[in-house]
Amino acid sequence: MSAMSLIINPEKTRIEVASEQTFLEVLKSEKKDRWKEWVAVKTQNGTTDLTRTIGELGSGEHEIEWVHRDSPEAQAVYRHTMSHILAQAVTRLFGDARVVLGIGPTIENGFYYDILVENRAIQEEDLPAIEKEMERIIKENYPIRRFSLPKDEAIAFMRDKHQLYKVELIENLPEGEAISFYEQGDFVDLCRGPHLPSTGIIRSFKLLSLAGAYWRGDEKNQMLQRIYGTSFATKEALQDYLQYLEEAKRRDHRRLGPQLGLFHIDTDVAAGMPFFLEKGVITLTQLQTVWRQFHKEAGYIEVMTPLVMHEKLWHQSGHWDHYRENMYFIEKDEQNYAVKPMNCPGHIIIYKSQARSYRELPWKMAEFGKVHRYERSGVLHGLFRVRAFTQDDAHIFMTEEDIVHELTDLIHLIDRMYKVFGFAYRVDLSTRPENSMGSDELWELATESLKKALIETQVDYRINEGDGAFYGPKIDFHIKDCLGRTWQCATVQLDFQMPERFDMSYIGQDNQEHRPVMIHRTVFGSLERFFGILIEHYAGAFPSWLAPVQVSVLPIADRHIDYCQHVKDALCENNIRAQVDSRSKKINYKIREAQLDKVPYMMVVGDKEVEEGKVALRTRNGKDLGAVSIESFITVFEKEVKELSEHSLFE
Ligand SMILES: [Zn+2]
Ligand SMILES: [Zn+2]
Repeated sequence: MSAMSLIINPEKTRIEVASEQTFLEVLKSEKKDRWKEWVAVKTQNGTTDLTRTIGELGSGEHEIEWVHRDSPEAQAVYRHTMSHILAQAVTRLFGDARVVLGIGPTIENGFYYDILVENRAIQEEDLPAIEKEMERIIKENYPIRRFSLPKDEAIAFMRDKHQLYKVELIENLPEGEAISFYEQGDFVDLCRGPHLPSTGIIRSFKLLSLAGAYWRGDEKNQMLQRIYGTSFATKEALQDYLQYLEEAKRRDHRRLGPQLGLFHIDTDVAAGMPFFLEKGVITLTQLQTVWRQFHKEAGYIEVMTPLVMHEKLWHQSGHWDHYRENMYFIEKDEQNYAVKPMNCPGHIIIYKSQARSYRELPWKMAEFGKVHRYERSGVLHGLFRVRAFTQDDAHIFMTEEDIVHELTDLIHLIDRMYKVFGFAYRVDLSTRPENSMGSDELWELATESLKKALIETQVDYRINEGDGAFYGPKIDFHIKDCLGRTWQCATVQLDFQMPERFDMSYIGQDNQEHRPVMIHRTVFGSLERFFGILIEHYAGAFPSWLAPVQVSVLPIADRHIDYCQHVKDALCENNIRAQVDSRSKKINYKIREAQLDKVPYMMVVGDKEVEEGKVALRTRNGKDLGAVSIESFITVFEKEVKELSEHSLFE
């Protein structure tokens, strides 16, 4: 036995210990009956098990820090232990002769284990029984013991247990290294750790779902079953997370979009290329109208360019060299064409269609440009990851002196547009990537200009090293939705290369030719994707100005239909999107249908309303606003739409 010293951070408490003592013993004597709040220890060797002996640090004095269960490092320790408990439970239920284990890592927000049960596919219905067995293992509170073996013994040990995937994993580990295992009760698993000192410390977990997964992600290999789960240090944290998952599911645009008649995706005919339905187009058009209004006020003009252009254009732009894998090509009349993946070259063609003077600059050329970019089918995701989308694109052509001023104006424009939806945002500045064009001086000038504009507009930003476009640095705006998830939307890229490549020029005040600079920018990013974000942000209940149907007029009986028709006509004459539900259904049914369709207002009409020349007004949230005249409704409603209000002005 030899004496050692530990300095416990952050308090820097110094204690004398014996090398044979474990960290757990020290923790228990220091924290008394609160010791279970700490789940691991940080040492010079990284985060490690509490059950290890202090002597493993080597003789002398060492600094350590306990890992509290609320810290991010603790979550990994918890979830790692959970994945072993999951494997142990499956082994107990189906018998260790039949269960072959793959890997069981932790992931963001949880863990999984890939498992093969011979002659038996695990079903969703099995998950509760597996959970119950896991609870039993937690209750039985097995100490978790770490031990290691030389490589050849480790292989023999796992082969003996028929764990052939584990044998394969160990065979791929470097020679000469001791292989560590963790044992809890009658279950042993290959693992690096660290783990909790015993299974009883787990407070709360939940199995979430089941999926297929090829061994090592290779489809030539055996398909295993992946069981997903999550665990948190407290029951409250687990509840919050499960609630978040429920809420995200409820808001999922892939479900709401078709349900609300907004869009349809046919993976057989056009994977990643959405079909927009009548209601979806109405909402998209409203978005575009407001966008056009904001951009007109900011001095933009709008153009339209062809979808398909000759391949030589893309050689000149550099897309052929840098972006070919993502492009679609067409051959006709023995000529090669490309479907545009970006709008910039088209805008440059317009710029170059005649000689330009400094008096025309800065020239802000905008387009709702439909672009096509190939993505692997595995990554496609509703409207979020697609192959065809509409960029709310614009290019600003300007002199070098205009750069900072134009960037500043642009940041203000983006800010103003995001405020319409109440989105907070974060900004990243991405710098020069490896595979880039252009000189050091120009990259420097471009990056500095972006920084200057961000400082001038007092926008906080962080640097994303090496993540710029191949032709220039960029700033990205990441908006935050109501669930706190972030989405990258607006981008602003400063570019000196494209004007060079296309030999663009303008005649300056000095009557000489000069090279313009250009900015590539979007605000929504992709119109389709932004639409998907809005569907989830509002859970389909769009503000009135965006709602496809704004008012549903509901006759109580057939004799009220004429009057309702008259109300609808009056609304439509005032550009209000209204409909009459004239089906012979009970009024409560019609109200419920309108609510499910997320129509902002319902006007219920019965004998009394017809007699008084009014309607009984309701909101989709079930609020009864009483009798109102059509005229007074129109006055308030028009204000609500004009202000792009997110909330009802009647409440
Ligand atoms: Zn483990
Ligand atoms: Zn561009």
